[in-house]
Formats: sequence, C-alpha cells, structure tokens
Amino acid sequence: MAKKVIIVGSGFAGLASAACLAKAGYEVTVLEKNSTAGGRARQMTAEGFVFDMGPSWYWMPEVFEEFFGLFGKKVSDYYDLHRLDPSYTINFGGGNVMDVPANLEGLYALFESYEPGSSKNLKRFLDEAAYKYEVGMQEFVHKPGHSILEFADLRVLRSLFRLQMFNSMAGYLRRLFKNEQLIQLLEFPVLFLGATPEKTPALYSLMNYADIRLGTWYPMGGMFKIVEGMVSLARELGVTFRFDQEVTRVEVIDGQVKQVHTANATYEADALVVGADYHHFEQEVLAPAFRQYNKAYWDNRVMAPSSLLFYLGLSKRVPNLRHHNLFFDEDFHQHAVEIYEKPKWPSKPLFYASAPSVTDPSVAPEGMENLFLLVPLAPGLEDTEALREKYFHMIMDRLEQFTGENIRDHIVYKRSYAHNDFIRDYHAFKGNAYGLANTLLQTAFLKPKMRSKKVRNLFYTGQLTTPGPGVPPSLISGQVVAKELNRVLAP
Ligand SMILES: Cc1cc2nc3c(=O)[nH]c(=O)nc-3n(C[C@H](O)[C@H](O)[C@H](O)COP(=O)(O)OP(=O)(O)OC[C@H]3O[C@@H](n4cnc5c(N)ncnc54)[C@H](O)[C@@H]3O)c2cc1C
Repeated sequence: MAKKVIIVGSGFAGLASAACLAKAGYEVTVLEKNSTAGGRARQMTAEGFVFDMGPSWYWMPEVFEEFFGLFGKKVSDYYDLHRLDPSYTINFGGGNVMDVPANLEGLYALFESYEPGSSKNLKRFLDEAAYKYEVGMQEFVHKPGHSILEFADLRVLRSLFRLQMFNSMAGYLRRLFKNEQLIQLLEFPVLFLGATPEKTPALYSLMNYADIRLGTWYPMGGMFKIVEGMVSLARELGVTFRFDQEVTRVEVIDGQVKQVHTANATYEADALVVGADYHHFEQEVLAPAFRQYNKAYWDNRVMAPSSLLFYLGLSKRVPNLRHHNLFFDEDFHQHAVEIYEKPKWPSKPLFYASAPSVTDPSVAPEGMENLFLLVPLAPGLEDTEALREKYFHMIMDRLEQFTGENIRDHIVYKRSYAHNDFIRDYHAFKGNAYGLANTLLQTAFLKPKMRSKKVRNLFYTGQLTTPGPGVPPSLISGQVVAKELNRVLAP
C-alpha cells in the first residue's frame, strides 16, 4: 500500500512537492486553510476584474519549464507566456522615466545615455552575474541545506571568491557604476525581495541576470495560471486537495508524525510536509517538545518585507502606464532604512504599480484598467485602516501626477491588503509578504532546516526555508523537499 503524505498548504512549494511525491508513488493529500489554492499567489475576482493577489513578476522561465518537464509536460500545456518589452519602467521623478528594454543592445545604449562608458561595466557585471546564476542554480539552490558540508566540494569552494558571498551588493555596484539611477535599477530586485543592498551578498546579482538576460514574462490570464496548471497537474497525478482545512494539531508518537488534525477531520500520515509558514507551524501548531527553534530564534530572524497592497478596478484606461511601473521618485535609501534598519511606516515610500490589463484584456472589462499597487513595508508594523488610507492618497497623488490622469474618481473596485491580512490569511510571521530575507547569515544551511531534527518524518518547504523567497525558489523548494522525504522514507 502506498505511504500517505500529508502536505500543509497549497502555495507553490506545497504544490510542487505534492506533484513530485505523487509521481514518486506516495498517496498525497494537500490540506489548505483557505478555500482556494495558490497561497500568496491566490486569485481574486470582483466586478469583472481578475486580480493576482501576490506575485506579478515572472522571472526565470526555465525553472517553470524544468518543473513541468519533470512530468513530461511543457509550460505551454498549461498557459501562454508572453515576454514583456519594455520589461518594466522606472519613474525617477522630475520627468526622468526609464523604460528598461528587453533586448541587451537597447540596455547597453540606455546605460551609455545615463553614464558614458558604463556599458562596458554592465557587460562585465552581467558576465559575473551569469557565472553566479549558473553556479547558484547548479550547486546551491537544489541543495537541502542540512549542513555546510554540502557546499564543501571543490568547485563550490573555488568559486566562493568569484561568487562574492562576502562582498555587499551595494559596494559591488558602486565600484562599477557612478550614476545613482543605474545603481537603483540594479539594486531593486534585492531590495524588493529581501534586505538592503548593503546587507545582501553580491552573490545575489544573479537576480539581475534573471531580470536582464532571462527576461520578464507574463502568463496570459495572470500569474494564477501557474497555480491552475500545477493543481491540474497534481490532480492528474492523483493528489487529493482538501480546502478550508486548517491544520491545528499533529500527533507525534515515538518521534514520528502519525496523525494530522484540522477542526473537523483527522488524517493519518506516514510523513508530513509543511508548506505553511515555518514559524507558524513550529510555534503555533507543533507541541513545544518537537520545536527546533525557540521564540528568541524567530525574533532574531530578519524577515523580508511586508507590503501594503491595493487592488483597484478603474472604469477607464490609463495612458502612460506600462505593465510594470516602479516609482523611485523618492529617496531610495531612506525607504530601505525605514524597512530594514529603523522599521516604521515610510516617510516617503517608493512603490510599484502593475497594470496587467496593459498586456492582457482578459483581466479587466473592456475599456477598463486593472491596477495593483504595492508599497514595501517593514514587517511587524501597526496596521490600521487610517494608515492604509493615508498611504493610498500619498501614492495616488504621485500616480495621478505621473500619468496626468484623474484616477481616484474612476475607481469602481478597491480593496486594500496589509500586515493584518497576511497574518489572517497565511499566518505570516509579523505579516511578512516574502518570507525570510536573503542576508548572508540566512543563506543556504543557515536558514531554518528543511528536515526536522526532532521528528523523523516531518519536513518543511517554502519561502522560509531553502532556497528562499520568490516563486521560482518556492517551486524548487518543493522539489528538493520531495527528494529529501523520498530519501528518508523510501524502502
Ligand atoms: C504581494 C506579493 C508580491 C510578490 N511578488 C513576487 C513576484 O513578483 N515574483 C516572485 O517570484 N515572487 C513574488 N512574491 C513572493 C512569492 O509569491 C512567494 O515567495 C511564494 O508564493 C511563496 O510560496 P510558498 O509556497 O512558500 O508559501 P505560500 O504561498 O504562503 O503558501 C503557504 C500556504 O499554507 C497555507 N497555510 C498556512 N497555515 C496553514 C495551516 N495551519 N493549515 C493549512 N494551511 C495553512 C496558506 O494558506 C498558504 O496557502 C510576492 C509575494 C507577495 C505576497
């Protein structure tokens, strides 16, 4: 009889592990507290608008292709990918707007126009980023991160210097470029996903490789198409989904999980994979005797940012908006400090506006615009309706000024979302949006462990363990945990 694996949570990591484990012959059941799949990447529909609730940037397309390839499938069996050009646009204020072209020659020309001579350094930067990306993808991200010994092979040791693990992203960029706007263009991927460029190892310029060389893509219909594809694949492989099933307790006997309880059901388990937020499961579901980390440990983790989000349906189109629009028209450094160093609601926030209806008519009624606004915020802040409204108007002023359009009077649907919602919907520690920050001391084997040391058949996956936050890493995390589980449980 097939062994039973219970998976907690239907985010990308839970879904990826479910498909892999079902393929390996396990009887897999996914228990999800919410009524739909996708976790932070759920979809919401209202008044004819189709909103992706979380991720909107589709990077590293080969990670998705490789995932579906494991099952003899292709991405195109599930959704149509479209490459965006320009990849995105940055508003630096004062009429300085940078469209970041998808093609490399265009990008070199853009760099030259901001800083003469800089395209040579951009080439060098991208060559180094390509090396980091290749080594990172081949040697790092697929490792479970149990111990430093996994990284002790010669190629990795030899490469440590070239990988720039011990230099900061901020210092590295400033040695290559002088123009602050070019630096911001290259710093934004790490700033939005984890920590200040000062605290992020220069290794993470591999993200720039993903951005610039591999491109920014969009699945027609929205990011939720990925979730739908993965759920459909998992079902084809025999996975059972149970929604509205919040796991509240697990029964551990003789060092092994035997049963998993929700409010109204009990599930037998030969193994448990936790795709829910690690902190929540360890501190709130698992009995104290089986926890590997205490409160102080979690309090000392650097969490990635939370966010204030607005999902807006507009009764008209807004010219001058691209699909992805970054508003860096205020002090970049100051906002970073207010997220990471002195956490507080930012004095003058940077923000991001996504208008997927620019590319995809299916996400808004005809002649209307689907708008998603995101302000990165420190985790753990007080979150009130009044604060949300204050920031709404702060960014609306800038958006209206930038587009030259009255937007507020054309809002036919509006929903805000911040810390309290992340906690209520996902049990997110401090209301984090993207899990654990990518600092040096929280990289690879220094992250919370994928396999429990105290409970033999208990495993963790997702954005709080290896390899880290983001959709592609979560997909990889699910694959790695499935291999680990199989290694331990296979006869
Ligand atoms: C606003 C926002 C924007 C983002 N933008 C991008 C982007 O553009 N590109 C990108 O690559 N990444 C982006 N990310 C990050 C990316 O979405 C996440 O890293 C990824 O989706 C995390 O997947 P996961 O499977 O680890 O966790 P989750 O998606 O959080 O899944 C965990 C699941 O566990 C469930 N759960 C929790 N507790 C329980 C319980 N007790 N019982 C049962 N179920 C439970 C939750 O409901 C949830 O469904 C963004 C994230 C957010 C929030």
